[in-house]
Amino acid sequence: MFKFFSRKKKVDPQIPVYLTNTLTRSKEVFTPIQNGYVKIYSCGPTVYDFVHIGNLRSYVFSDILKRMLLLNGYEVEHTINLTDFGHLSDDGDHGEDKMMIALKRDGKKPSLEAMKPIADRYSEAFMADMEALGNATPNHYARASEYIVEEIALVKMLDEKGYTYETRDGVYFDISRFPAYGKLGNINLQALKDGARVEANPDKRHPADFAVWKKGELGWDSPWGKGFPGWHIECTAMIFATLGKQIDIHTGGIDHIATHHNGEIAQAEAATSKTPYVRYWMHHAFITIDNTKISKSLSNGIQLNHLVERGYHPLDYRYWLLTGHYSSPMNFTFEALDGARNAHFKLKRFIYEDLAGKKGGKINAAYTQRFIEFLNDDLNTPGAIALLWEIVKDKNLTPEDKRATLLSFDETLVLGLSDIHKGDIARTLGVVEIESLPDEVKELIALREAARTEKRWADADVLRQQINLLGYVVEDGANGAKVTKQ
Ligand code: AMP
Ligand code: ZN
Repeated sequence: MFKFFSRKKKVDPQIPVYLTNTLTRSKEVFTPIQNGYVKIYSCGPTVYDFVHIGNLRSYVFSDILKRMLLLNGYEVEHTINLTDFGHLSDDGDHGEDKMMIALKRDGKKPSLEAMKPIADRYSEAFMADMEALGNATPNHYARASEYIVEEIALVKMLDEKGYTYETRDGVYFDISRFPAYGKLGNINLQALKDGARVEANPDKRHPADFAVWKKGELGWDSPWGKGFPGWHIECTAMIFATLGKQIDIHTGGIDHIATHHNGEIAQAEAATSKTPYVRYWMHHAFITIDNTKISKSLSNGIQLNHLVERGYHPLDYRYWLLTGHYSSPMNFTFEALDGARNAHFKLKRFIYEDLAGKKGGKINAAYTQRFIEFLNDDLNTPGAIALLWEIVKDKNLTPEDKRATLLSFDETLVLGLSDIHKGDIARTLGVVEIESLPDEVKELIALREAARTEKRWADADVLRQQINLLGYVVEDGANGAKVTKQ
């Protein structure tokens, strides 16, 4: 349940926080409803399948947003929902419930009982991905099916206030009763009406009217018969229940603007008469794979585990995401991920090896100022990443201060640079103990060491290439050869 904090400290950032607000289509100075305390809601995944790496952009984005606010001294309360019912295969009111699709796929008879283990399984997998990507656990993981009472109460309230009408298949929100409908993303309602599909529900008065309750054999009892809440109702009811009637920031992908989020605004503001329901709407752009939309039908939904199976660290993917601005579309290719992995690898090695033991430094104030400026400027993560490299190359900063500064920035970026990852060093860097190498490689390394001792550099080079061909990289460290797996 949400709580109102009595603030002990007033937060007044020295460097203003700017966020791009979809509602006003401009970059605005951020001020929360309550000083020092920020309420964020992020539309979560539909837990009928594993999420793909495109979905995960949503939560690295909201994590960076949250950490930027923490860096500025704000207290943050964050809810991510898990849609375990009510999200139809079409974002409007057409198509099949995605959980029903999952039941059929798994050969199960439709029942709420059968849905639960499916939702559990994919929720757990999602949470594991969240953790692997370094995303902070939200204060609330809200499951739509656990807020049925609140969802029905919200529909009832809209019904009583005259915002809805009942049809054969459900209860619909009448957008003609809410003139501001469509303000998010500046939706052209006339064009929507003109372009409405012939097969659209004939009972609907306007194609943009949306279901707040869908009648069906599967679901829960309600004053309108058995069925389930509309997808938009779920998010609003979970916001009301976990964060309150008005919140500071709502996040999601750009696909949610037109239908899902306009629906949320209409029903929330109609129900509470409080405007705005959300002060800052933030939407991230999409990830494509090899310049193609990620889609189930194309079977190109790469998952985080697929990257791990191919030898990438989940944080390599986080690093790659952060090299782009959240509002820019990004095209995923393995070449691009290799580039990110190499850069990430070099950064980790710099900290773990070159700066090993260089403790006791001071966090550099000038760099910190610039770091905050980048992040406060609508989450300019590419700028923040470039700044890390500027620090690495800075000849005037002591190794101790470099270490302290980089590690402090990592509390926000979470690239695995900090001490807690130390136990993971060898694995992260792919360092292989010489003893555990295949005999063939061991032999080549010994021959190369001998060539180097005898200053036969050309021979040493050929041997290095032979080692490469077997999948290993050999480098000469202070304590002899160091071998990593390619
Ligand atoms: P869904 O489970 O479809 O509700 O999606 C969960 C989140 O992933 C939403 O915020 C979507 O906007 C987002 N999303 C879906 N596909 C992509 C993609 N290809 N790239 C980035 N975000 C996506
Ligand atoms: Zn939502």
